[in-house]
Amino acid sequence: TLTLEGVGRSFGTLNALHGVDLTIRRGEFVALLGPSGCGKSTTLNCIAGLLAISGGRILLDGKRIDTLRPEERGFGMVFQNYALFPHLTVRQNIGFGLKMRGVARAETARRVDEAIRLVRLQGQEAKLPGQLSGGQQQRVAIARAVVIEPPLVLMDEPLSNLDAKLRLEMRAEIRRIHNEFGGTTIYVTHDQDEALSLADRIVVLKDGTIRQVGTPHELYESPADRDVAEFMGFRN
Ligand code: ATP
Ligand code: MG
Repeated sequence: TLTLEGVGRSFGTLNALHGVDLTIRRGEFVALLGPSGCGKSTTLNCIAGLLAISGGRILLDGKRIDTLRPEERGFGMVFQNYALFPHLTVRQNIGFGLKMRGVARAETARRVDEAIRLVRLQGQEAKLPGQLSGGQQQRVAIARAVVIEPPLVLMDEPLSNLDAKLRLEMRAEIRRIHNEFGGTTIYVTHDQDEALSLADRIVVLKDGTIRQVGTPHELYESPADRDVAEFMGFRN
């Protein structure tokens, strides 16, 4: 269980997050949804440790993690721009984190094979990122995030660089991978459809505060206020 207690973050005089309280259970797929600038990436980066928090606490299974460095938290990250090593093959990109952690070569090979199967990249192992399509590159990024078997996979708008058709295809893939991997996923998006079709629960953010948390059904049936209903595209 990941718990955010009164998490705040400011940039100079700008308060980007105000006292965010949130609990995410193991195995959940949670979407952070809201308009541009509402604090989605800030929240994710605070969880990852890429940004320090300016108030509150973050706990994983009851232990404080907000004081740990990103490597010590060990979460898997997937970004919009893939961030693959251009000079390393698919196989090497996926295995990089295991190598860095000193995992033995045979064990690395076994886990990389498993991750390649999970994201369905068999046959592409020897290619360089530049020889892959956008969707394939994003599969490599996902494989690289899950191969370390992290307690949490964090994704920030992973599909926004893909064309519409590929985006729909990869949307289904991301949910399948989450289910098969059996981990916990936090997924940032500004796309209501994406959140509604992917997530077990949706966290609606606006101006650095949580406006509502609920299942897609709960949000649809009883949006907290007119803002949420409007942003979700529901009539009320
Ligand atoms: P988008 O959908 O556009 O990615 P977001 O919801 O991810 O938006 P954040 O990146 O979390 O939004 O930004 C929240 C607020 O904090 C914005 O007002 C943004 O301008 C500000 N902000 C974010 N990062 C910084 C930074 N490094 N320095 C100063 N202000 C920042
Ligand atoms: Mg963002």
